[in-house]
Amino acid sequence: MSKHQHNAPLPDPVLRVKALESLLIEKGLVDPAALDLLIDTYENQVGPRNGARVVARAWTDPSYRSRLLRDATAAIAEMGFEGRQGEDMVVVENTERVHNLVVCTLCSCYPWPVLGLPPVWYKAAPYRARAVREPRKVLAEFGVDLVDGVEVRVWDSTAELRYLVLPRRPDGTERLSEQELAELVTRDSMIGAGVVPGSKSTDT
Ligand code: FE
Repeated sequence: MSKHQHNAPLPDPVLRVKALESLLIEKGLVDPAALDLLIDTYENQVGPRNGARVVARAWTDPSYRSRLLRDATAAIAEMGFEGRQGEDMVVVENTERVHNLVVCTLCSCYPWPVLGLPPVWYKAAPYRARAVREPRKVLAEFGVDLVDGVEVRVWDSTAELRYLVLPRRPDGTERLSEQELAELVTRDSMIGAGVVPGSKSTDT
C-alpha cells in the first residue's frame, strides 16, 4: 500500500468520492443530512475519543507516557488504534515552557486513527498559512492566550509524519479515573489549537 505523500497531488480519490456522493444522493440512496451527521460523528465524536484515551493513559501511566514519546506509532497501536494516516506517528508534549501546534501547510495531513477526520478550519488555507507565520495570533483567536516565555513550536505534517499533541493535565484532577480524564480531553487540545479546560500555560 502506498503511503500518502503530502506534497503529492491527490485529486483523484477526492473526485471519486464526490462523484459517488452525488450519485448516491441523486438516486435517493443516501440522505444528505444523514451523510452530514455521519461526517460530524467521525470528525467530532468517534475519532478524537481515541486520541483522548491515549492522552488520559499517558497522564496516568508514566511508563506508557515514555513509550508514547519515544515511539508513538507503537504505543498508540498498543491501544488498538492503527491504520491509514497513522502509520508514522509522533507525539509532542506540552509543558510549562512549550506549547505545540500542528498544521499541514500543503494539504490536510491528519492522524486519522486517533483524531478522526480533520475539521474544516484545519484544511482551510488561512489556518495552513497563518499557523506557521503567526502562531500566537492564531492561538489567541482559538482562545489560547499563552503566558510570556512559553515557546510555541509549530509542527508541519510534511512527508509521512502525523503529529498528536499531548496536552497538559489540568490541576485538581488527581482523583479522576483514566476514563474520566479522557472525557476532559478535547480534539483541539490534541492539535494544539486549544488546551484542556482548567490546565495552566494560559492566562485564562
Ligand atoms: Fe498534507
